[in-house]
Amino acid sequence: MTYNPSSGICGKAIVTLWPEVIAAEAGPFLLNLNKTACHEVGHSVGQTHHDPPYGDCLVRGPVSTGHVQYGGVHKGYINDLF
Ligand SMILES: [Zn+2]
Repeated sequence: MTYNPSSGICGKAIVTLWPEVIAAEAGPFLLNLNKTACHEVGHSVGQTHHDPPYGDCLVRGPVSTGHVQYGGVHKGYINDLF
């Protein structure tokens, strides 16, 4: 997603999830599907990876618990954009 601060208009992003790829990874499927959706939508608004010890969805790779929400740093960044 692109955001033009001078016009205040957001662009659009197309995020495609491939469940078969997520199913082939380690970890619970539904948890990792939710984590991946959060993760990729986060990238669409400019968020970068946020590896451990943080527990948010911008972590790389499959997870076994948690990691289905944005952390405070991401919420602050997104709220500042919009
Ligand atoms: Zn990523």
